[in-house]
Amino acid sequence: GPQDGKPKAKRWDHHLSEESRMRQPCALKQAARHLNKPGLISLGGGLPSSQVFPFAELSMKIPVVPEFSEQSTSQSGVHETIGKYDIRNGKAEYDLSIALNYGQATGSAQMMRFLTEHTEVICQPPYADWAVCQTIGSTGALEQAVRMFCDKNRRDAVLTEEFSFSTALETIEPLGVGTFGTPIDSQGIIPEAMDDLLSNWDESTRGFRKPHVLYTVPSGQNPTGATQGAERRRAIYAVAQKHDMVIIEDEPYFFLQMEPYGQNQDSTTGTVDEFVDSLVQPYVSIDVDGRVMRLDSVSKVLAPGSRLGWVVASQQLIERYQRHAEVASQGPSGFSQVILHKLLDETWGHEGYLKWLMNLRTEYTLKRNALMAACEKHLPQNIVSWTPPAAGMFVWLTVDHTKHPDHGKRKLEDIEQEIFDACIDGGVLVARGSWFRAEQHVPLSGLYFRATYAMASPENMDIAISRFGDAVRSSFK
Ligand code: PMP
Ligand code: PLP
Repeated sequence: GPQDGKPKAKRWDHHLSEESRMRQPCALKQAARHLNKPGLISLGGGLPSSQVFPFAELSMKIPVVPEFSEQSTSQSGVHETIGKYDIRNGKAEYDLSIALNYGQATGSAQMMRFLTEHTEVICQPPYADWAVCQTIGSTGALEQAVRMFCDKNRRDAVLTEEFSFSTALETIEPLGVGTFGTPIDSQGIIPEAMDDLLSNWDESTRGFRKPHVLYTVPSGQNPTGATQGAERRRAIYAVAQKHDMVIIEDEPYFFLQMEPYGQNQDSTTGTVDEFVDSLVQPYVSIDVDGRVMRLDSVSKVLAPGSRLGWVVASQQLIERYQRHAEVASQGPSGFSQVILHKLLDETWGHEGYLKWLMNLRTEYTLKRNALMAACEKHLPQNIVSWTPPAAGMFVWLTVDHTKHPDHGKRKLEDIEQEIFDACIDGGVLVARGSWFRAEQHVPLSGLYFRATYAMASPENMDIAISRFGDAVRSSFK
């Protein structure tokens, strides 16, 4: 867990919203600490007895290392069962009687131990008092984080990539909080441009205070697919320090960092240590001030329906986060926690989980390569360009609007609509760049489409991209 011998995180009281500062500990959950007293009989908490839970046992079939494919799971996968009283019966360290009852809003101690160890291996934050707290996934975690730092009465605003995850924008805007986009290139946020924007901030023309929160997706950004390299992250961190910002790093695609495009390496052969070393350092790993809140999620690496993730941040921020969770989600579902604990801790262990992630890296590398091959084959490269993604599940297709016959005569929104409609008519769905604009009122500056290689088979990707190419050609005549 949190380590001694390192400096403590800075305090962020001045960045907390009034809502967050006002939160008091949950009186009923605080009472749980007395349960440790020997001989104490509790008539205090409103916990139902596990005797009345209608679940005696859960059973599941899961893959074993390294036979991870769907086919091999059906043959060599193992059956695991989770009983109601496995702890009392000495069969396991976590069971249904605990998982299905009320607990602390951090989630169970058992899952917290696994996730803290995992964070130690992957992130190694450079300050002493870091902590983790489980979440119901990064969607809910971001909503809590934004409300923790942003106050509409203060005219607060969030800075993000020029094109940003649409659900994040939909989270922030209804809170009355501003969203502003910073210029990006193939590695995402451009630090010099970010510094310029903040250094020349004029509150009266912008209508909002200079942003004190950066929301960024450093690996395989949604929608642009951009991954910030290690140097880039350090430069952006320095700008955040200069302007006294907190950073929310939303990293659902962190472990979908793939083999470099065009290099034929087999990533399943190396050791787990080599794998961990090959990953771009997270922001929390360079976070000497404790100004980063990292959002992690199992959605893209195990299953989105788990609704389980965790945040990593300083103890001060985690404590405020937990106070909010106590009156909102109360942490992830006990079913999710006990099932994932059986998989991650009791069946795979840390090394097995990392092997699963290495296998996933290979799967996504193959998917990405198939979509790249289809783009190279079918798209008019004098009009459409792209950077092969280094992480995540998206490629950002830039269509050169200056070559369009109606360039300067029609709004880009209209041309984007025309291409999108032609895509649907031709039988392919792609996402429109305009859906992701950080500043929705600013006219489009270019034509972009987001395509994913996560779902379709290689054959269907080939057909789909050829349809997209036809739609672009028909608009460009
Ligand atoms: N409302 C009331 C009145 C309650 O007594 C409780 C449980 N103590 C809750 C809400 C919490 O319900 P849940 O576990 O579904 O969040
Ligand atoms: N953040 C980003 C950048 C995403 O792309 C997604 C999924 O699309 C999420 C968060 C949602 O994650 P979760 O399922 O953990 O809520």
